[in-house]
Amino acid sequence: MDSDTSEQQIACVYCPEDGKKTFPPKKGSLEHVILSALGGRKGSRNICCMDCNNRLGLEIDDVLARTFAPLANQFNIQRDRRGAAPIIASKETLDGAQLEVGPGGQYRLKKATVTESETADGRPSFYVQANNLEEADRLRGSYLKKFGPNAQTTTEYFATSTPAPLHAFELKFGDAEKRSSAKMLLTLLATSVHPDRIRSDELRDIVRYINGEINIGHRVQPWLNIAMPATKEEYRFGHVALVVASAELKQLVGVLLLFGTFKVTVLLSDSWSGPALGVRYCVDPCSGHHDTDRIDGETLAQSFPQSEIPCDADLGADIGALIGELQERQRTKLIMGVIEEVKARIPEGASQEEIKRIVDEAANRLTKELLKIPYKRRLDL
Ligand SMILES: [Zn+2]
Repeated sequence: MDSDTSEQQIACVYCPEDGKKTFPPKKGSLEHVILSALGGRKGSRNICCMDCNNRLGLEIDDVLARTFAPLANQFNIQRDRRGAAPIIASKETLDGAQLEVGPGGQYRLKKATVTESETADGRPSFYVQANNLEEADRLRGSYLKKFGPNAQTTTEYFATSTPAPLHAFELKFGDAEKRSSAKMLLTLLATSVHPDRIRSDELRDIVRYINGEINIGHRVQPWLNIAMPATKEEYRFGHVALVVASAELKQLVGVLLLFGTFKVTVLLSDSWSGPALGVRYCVDPCSGHHDTDRIDGETLAQSFPQSEIPCDADLGADIGALIGELQERQRTKLIMGVIEEVKARIPEGASQEEIKRIVDEAANRLTKELLKIPYKRRLDL
């Protein structure tokens, strides 16, 4: 193994041949194995410059991230650099106000609004639509200042509801998604081999493919029925990236499993000259837990089928399991949340009648949320 000295420079893998930017080992731009938009944590700084990272981020990674955004939203994944799960646009409205799907699949108002009008006797009136008490109170306060205490106010608070936008989850897996998948697997490889290996001839084609210079899309197979070693239960609905190399077959194959369901197999090289290799990275995008382990690459690579048969039937069953898990998690969270709220809202020494009113309201709301009916509830300010 070469030792890295501070004078050594390595070239960006994705820069054009006639103008490659260079950087010291481990000082390049941070490339994530699993995209940070999907909750990935681990990365490599031995691959590319910041310009190429940004360029390919816009060109391919953002496309893949958008494709999986509905799932990332519904699972309420926790992201390292980009914060909370993505927000999804919704066509739904409530009393004319545009709704959106917030992290965790919750309907909410896209924007708090105030509608001004007049009462029958000519006094100013305004109607506040807000997502929470603080927001409603703030808007109410600023309008009271504007109109004075004589204004008639009606303030309503929309409690959020959980819809099932997965009905509209359309999974396209085009050229950009394929290239981004190949890039993630190449990044995993870069975390475990010498930087020179990533820059060798045996990986040149896949690098050029990721870069959009050549089309070897046939080497990237979504939904291929290929056996992977079992992962810990914790990662059952997480992401797995796996690279395995066979010295005997001279093949380097990568497998990506997103949300424990969507499998993409990439032939990274068919002229591998290195040793047998097996590296696996698992991350649960909800908890942020992640692990990297080594596996027996030679044996695993040899077990991969030589004829490649996509298996849509298996994918259908897997998606069913994924949605079942998602609904179960959301239901549990919802029920526990309502129970906590009821406990907090019942004052000490409350009368039977008062308790009944609070419990009835909560039961009514829970029913609507479980039935995915958007609704609002009036808030006393
Ligand atoms: Zn570059």
